[in-house]
Amino acid sequence: MNDVERKTVEQPETRVLDQGIVRLIDFMGGDAAVVQSARVSFGKGMTDDERDKKLLFFLLANGHETPFEHSVFKFHIKCPIFVARQWFRHRMASYNEISGRYTEMKEEFCLPEQLRTQKARNYKYEEVEQALNEELKRKIAAHYSASFALYQELLDKGVAKEQARIVLPLSLYTQFYWTINCRSLMNFVRLRLEEHAQYEIRQYARVIDAIFREKMPWTHEAFEKYVIAGEQWCE
Ligand SMILES: Cc1cc2nc3c(=O)[nH]c(=O)nc-3n(C[C@H](O)[C@H](O)[C@H](O)COP(=O)(O)OP(=O)(O)OC[C@H]3O[C@@H](n4cnc5c(N)ncnc54)[C@H](O)[C@@H]3O)c2cc1C
Repeated sequence: MNDVERKTVEQPETRVLDQGIVRLIDFMGGDAAVVQSARVSFGKGMTDDERDKKLLFFLLANGHETPFEHSVFKFHIKCPIFVARQWFRHRMASYNEISGRYTEMKEEFCLPEQLRTQKARNYKYEEVEQALNEELKRKIAAHYSASFALYQELLDKGVAKEQARIVLPLSLYTQFYWTINCRSLMNFVRLRLEEHAQYEIRQYARVIDAIFREKMPWTHEAFEKYVIAGEQWCE
């Protein structure tokens, strides 16, 4: 096993949904790197904790966001394709995804515990009643099995992987590496944690947010205060 593989394996993973994961593979920077990047404008480095924290809060409260770009997170994500489609809209990041052209897909589909109904256009949902929930879940599971059986049949009969996959549902799990700087990560968390974002991607955003808080506690505190709560800067 080489160093990169060992590092990847050693990082703990957090389970999300029924078969998804978030794993932080690498991290560079931190709160100190934000302050250091900002102070280079004045030819200075770190001073003391209190002044450094105040500077960091000032930066975020007043839209000086480039110093946050020097902190970078690299994640391994496993999520359903319908979540990945929303995720990949966040362009200010780097992605490398498992290939369905070169790899045989695994029989891993997202099956929600609880189905929901939606009230017209107002983002209000209600749980599908228990008996119907179970009946519909059985039908979804049967549909997944039939789709995967057809996928295997197409492969067995010599159809190329890149074509055979067209019969697989959007709930199929995919995996990708996601490298994103702190500025862009805050944009992702802000948009994907809020209540209008779909439940499934919100579960991932919650885990990403917890990792962000652990790695950059000052920045996270400022993010909650000025970006999420919308407080104004005051001396
Ligand atoms: C609740 C919700 C519902 C959504 N519904 C839809 C939908 O129905 N249909 C749909 O298509 N999308 C939808 N989206 C996706 C949304 O439009 C954005 O594509 C996605 O949230 C990524 O945001 P972003 O562009 O800020 O992020 P990034 O792509 O990471 O960009 C980060 C920032 O960089 C700057 N930037 C990036 N690219 C450009 C550019 N080309 N020009 C100028 N500035 C740029 C912007 O300041 C941007 O905020 C939805 C998103 C959410 C959260």
